[in-house]
Amino acid sequence: MRFATLAVHAGQSPDHATGAVMPPIYQTATYVQPPEGETTAYEYGRAANPTRTVLENNLAGLEGASHGIAFASGMSATDAILRALRPGDHIIASEDMYGGNYRYLKLVLAPMGVRVTFTDLTRVEVLAQAVTSQTKVIWVESPTNPLIQIVDLSAVCACAQLVGAAVVVDNTFASPYLQQPLSFGADMVLHSTTKYLGGHSDIVGGFVCTNDEKWADHLRFQVKCVGAIPGPMDCFLALRGTKTLHIRMERHCTNAQKIATYLDRHPKVMQVNYPGLESHPGHALAKSQMNGFGGMLSMTLKTSSSSEARRVLQSLSVFAFAESLGGVESLAGHPATMSHGALSSEERARLGVTDNLVRLSVGIEDLEDLLEDLEQALSQI
Ligand SMILES: *Cc1c(COP(=O)(O)O)cnc(C)c1O
Repeated sequence: MRFATLAVHAGQSPDHATGAVMPPIYQTATYVQPPEGETTAYEYGRAANPTRTVLENNLAGLEGASHGIAFASGMSATDAILRALRPGDHIIASEDMYGGNYRYLKLVLAPMGVRVTFTDLTRVEVLAQAVTSQTKVIWVESPTNPLIQIVDLSAVCACAQLVGAAVVVDNTFASPYLQQPLSFGADMVLHSTTKYLGGHSDIVGGFVCTNDEKWADHLRFQVKCVGAIPGPMDCFLALRGTKTLHIRMERHCTNAQKIATYLDRHPKVMQVNYPGLESHPGHALAKSQMNGFGGMLSMTLKTSSSSEARRVLQSLSVFAFAESLGGVESLAGHPATMSHGALSSEERARLGVTDNLVRLSVGIEDLEDLLEDLEQALSQI
């Protein structure tokens, strides 16, 4: 089956008990034990729930994976994967990455004795120098956050194979509609379902999928032992979101492309980071490994002042000045004071997260309204 059909149908069949077309919300903590000698997939709600199973099979279908495991949040999904690491192990991650993952690696994983290296994954020759026989995981985001760079997934996977490291791709920014990392050789794909998969900014959730039996066992064991599970209602809402993923992503992409083109010519804008622009260094690569350029872009404004950048953001009225991304509504953020606020100004400068950097999650509203909103806000500087 092709993507749009999978989005609507993967993992779902009418409810056995009632014929309900939509998966019921199984709001239960426990299940009656079957008679002696029979087995059931469901014994207790931490280990498994039928609404969660439907979501897991649906999302695994969209990523072309044989195993899918849902979590309470993107961060708990990250945590579940990385609990496989032991003191002395080494992980390499992109230096341009989601702030929460950066914080997790620096403040949770590194203090447990795991060696963490941040590097520029857009340059595979730099990665090749960073890998060692201790490297167990290479953590990739593409497009990256907040600079929207493109990483060559096949090249990273080939490099990882040389030392037997597992490649995890956080595919939150692209969504499986635009990019399917397992097909490039990734071992695991992670999502914050809070973003494009849920798509309506009304849940927090996470997901990991893999074709590797050992990693799937590890993840299910974490679910059972640690229990960072999404509730059945949230699973239902995530499923409602994925049914329209392909339609929403098309609109996110066309709106973002036109907004990027408009901003690229705007006199108050210094630089626009969007892979759909031919001037973007990752344009050709994005064209070859993605089915579209996505709804995320960032730009630097012609001001060096953090407060002026925030003033532009506060003047927006269709775009909401808020954290997060991937919902039907447009959001605008200021990485230096929001997602990367915990970093020192030296660290931010080194990473390119400057005070004049603004990030947009372009929604599916009318394009003209979004352009007019940006025009009046940019006139503030
Ligand atoms: C939001 C996000 C996460 C974390 O997910 P939560 O659901 O907020 O815990 C991880 N990676 C990326 C790229 C994200 O955007």
